[in-house]
Amino acid sequence: MAMGEWEDILQQTKEAVLEFAPSITITSIDFEASLIVVYTKDIDYFTDNPNVVKQIAQKIRRRISIRPDPSILMKEEDAKEIIKRIVPAEAGITDIYFEPETCEVVIAAEAPGLVIGKEGQLLNEIKKQVKWAPRVVRTPPIPSRIVSEIREFLKENQEDRRQFLREVGRKLNRPILNGENWVRVIALGGYREVGRSATLLMTRNSRVLIDCGVVAGNVQSNEPWSGVPYLYVPEIWSQDSFQNENNPFKYLDAVVLTHAHLDHSGLLPFLYKYNFKGPLYATPATRDLAVLLQMDYLKLAHSEGNKVPYDSKDIKEMLKRTITLEYGETTDITQDVRLTFHNAGHILGSSIAHFHIGEGLHNIVVSGDIKFEKTWLFSAANNKFPRAETVIIESTYGGRDDFQPSRREAGENLKNIVSNVISRNGKVLVPVFAVGRSQEVMLVLEEYIRNNELPKIPVYIDGMIWEATAIHAAYPEYLNKELRERIFKKSDNPFLSDIFVRVDTPDRREKIVNDPDPSVILATSGMMNGGPVMEYFINMAENPKNALIFVGYQAEGTIGRRIQKGEKALTLSYMGKMNTINISMEIATVEGFSGHADRKQLIQFITSMHPRPNKVITCHGDGDNCEYLADTFYRKYGIDSIAPKNLESLRLY
Ligand SMILES: [Zn+2]
Repeated sequence: MAMGEWEDILQQTKEAVLEFAPSITITSIDFEASLIVVYTKDIDYFTDNPNVVKQIAQKIRRRISIRPDPSILMKEEDAKEIIKRIVPAEAGITDIYFEPETCEVVIAAEAPGLVIGKEGQLLNEIKKQVKWAPRVVRTPPIPSRIVSEIREFLKENQEDRRQFLREVGRKLNRPILNGENWVRVIALGGYREVGRSATLLMTRNSRVLIDCGVVAGNVQSNEPWSGVPYLYVPEIWSQDSFQNENNPFKYLDAVVLTHAHLDHSGLLPFLYKYNFKGPLYATPATRDLAVLLQMDYLKLAHSEGNKVPYDSKDIKEMLKRTITLEYGETTDITQDVRLTFHNAGHILGSSIAHFHIGEGLHNIVVSGDIKFEKTWLFSAANNKFPRAETVIIESTYGGRDDFQPSRREAGENLKNIVSNVISRNGKVLVPVFAVGRSQEVMLVLEEYIRNNELPKIPVYIDGMIWEATAIHAAYPEYLNKELRERIFKKSDNPFLSDIFVRVDTPDRREKIVNDPDPSVILATSGMMNGGPVMEYFINMAENPKNALIFVGYQAEGTIGRRIQKGEKALTLSYMGKMNTINISMEIATVEGFSGHADRKQLIQFITSMHPRPNKVITCHGDGDNCEYLADTFYRKYGIDSIAPKNLESLRLY
């Protein structure tokens, strides 16, 4: 179908619907981002003839959704009653909630199969009686506060959202202007460094920002423009619009977030603070985790008297304009850029973003952060794509000697250190990112204790780790198969093991430190830039029986890195007080828990990639790592490779 004005497209869709379903009446039709949504009171026709929607979609070559007209939806309370009557009690329904944005009713049950019924019979019955479209999910084994808050928030703002999605759709369907085609990328942050990741993808028609992070540790800075990407370059910052409408990001079309870590997501709300009205694309799990981490970032900054250049209302604006995509789901994000997310294996919901530009003009793979090995949590990153000419790849461990032990060896090393500390009656403190590393360490400790390879000791979980764990349980489809299966067997769910003790009030910390028995404490933040880990550290550091074990990457300039390098005395400000700490506790680093591919895996990712890329651009690496990795791809594998500096721009087509 030729590109036309959006009105023409809707008219053509209407005609196609009536061609395949002549007896129905359309009450309204409009865009919902890249989807066309048709509302009708005759929804039963489509329940009885499920193939018709597919036929219409094929004819118009667009994604289409047929929904019940809101006027025929049964009242929520009545619909709940009917559903409970239709579904047998053995299904174990735990929650029924409504998503008016898509006219769906979500039924959470312990045995989803029993809600669906034989060949979907019960679902059809529900559909016909209540008119809402039923969606069945398995009851999440750990309730997550943030997941339900986000669900509530989106429901309260459904009118705004509908309006927003309609505008996105209309904008996507404006005709493309003819002219010379070109594609370029601009390094805005996180090139030849780790932190403040940001890349601008530009074509004649589009400007798409990929990630918008802050430097780890920036939370301690009082200078709001330090540690953030170069957003004030003219390609992205419009000085006129800033002065006249306070809308500097006027010409930005869309933002794509690869994963929730703050060095990729930390500055996104800032765009919305300055009236950016465009969509943010992310997986559902990334959306929820990003909100959790940003909220925590604000909290931490405020508690330490530091400034963050946005506040919680800007996070909400971002949330209102977030469009979620599952892995493998392709969508138009501008008139000439099509996005597909693939598993990155790094943290929950983490994605590799694949951009298809123009009608086959160019394809770019942006790796985000990747792990190219199966972990306790995830499958290895995907490296098979329909087409890919250029890859932008992270280089965290791209340096000469950056080889990591296997997951198994890492687990054994951790076990040995913990075992030694237990035998001398000490305590183990592990600074962890709330998201990812903490869940892996939990799984490893649970396994060794379950198999009696470690004595049964309490493992204290502090900071946001518990909530982050709950989000993992809420999105089991992102976890590897074995873990997913264990999570759903109540008695077998490793996260619900009784070794884990949740620390939810700060006054418990003192008791934990003073308890004479050995224990393990997992606390945030992962690089010791503040957070509860600091309180434990201050109170544990002078006792040589204790150990501090690093399992994650410690960026240059962080307190974690200084301790790891061997500093023996530190002056730290914590909760407004200065503390001088003499470190006598054992300091250990267990390699191999990283969520990042090591050098071997980075090389494997590219050399076994399908198809093989023509060009590799390296980013996200300290020191010489980016250059060294690019050099390897060029010299050893003959691939045109480059390690640009921030602010450099590359033409790809
Ligand atoms: Zn990351």
